[in-house]
Amino acid sequence: MQIESGEIRRNVRDQVSSTRLGVEHEFRRTGHDQERGVNMDPLMRQAYACVRSITPIPADCGKLCDRQCCKGGDDAGMLMFPGEDPPEGMKVSGIEIYGYKTRFVVCRGWCERGKRPLSCRIFPFAPYLDSAGELLIIPDPRAKYICPLLTVDALTKIDPRFIAAVKNAFDILIQSDEIREMLVAYSAMLEGYARFTGDELTSYAGLMSE
Ligand code: SF4
Ligand code: SF4
Repeated sequence: MQIESGEIRRNVRDQVSSTRLGVEHEFRRTGHDQERGVNMDPLMRQAYACVRSITPIPADCGKLCDRQCCKGGDDAGMLMFPGEDPPEGMKVSGIEIYGYKTRFVVCRGWCERGKRPLSCRIFPFAPYLDSAGELLIIPDPRAKYICPLLTVDALTKIDPRFIAAVKNAFDILIQSDEIREMLVAYSAMLEGYARFTGDELTSYAGLMSE
């Protein structure tokens, strides 16, 4: 089932702006994350845990493509979500996506697995707020041309537990207004990318039910 294309409806943005007046969750580094050895916000810690060890397929998919998504390079980086800190040694810059200011990190093509950012943990899928504000997990249109897991045949081999874990992670994170605000911009960015390439955004669940 194809997602209705077009801009995220204004009411979702308005909803975010109004709820931000009474912030439901403010990111604070209040709990120690043993795996990363740093203090992290409790919501982000839970989200990291959801996608800590599960992988898109029950095998090392890096062998399929010689780890295409970990090649590094100045243009090949990851967006950081609110509540995340870049692992040490990464090049960090500021970036604005559809009016939302965040950070963009570029790695050296290697990292300690337990310290990889959320964007890497969920690749090649992405969270997307549809026009009604519903959170969906979609194949990331930015990944389509590098990741062999996003071919039609390979998508049927994705472990549904991985998709469920990514959904759980963002169901937790979306309790934060800041994350919701970023997801509005992030979803508009994904739409813009799909418009540019002429692709359609489709939820993973929708693809599997076709
Ligand atoms: S590009 Fe896709 S198949 Fe290759 S390592 Fe990354 S997630 Fe796995
Ligand atoms: S941070 Fe790690 S998982 Fe992410 S792209 Fe770099 S090497 Fe790959």
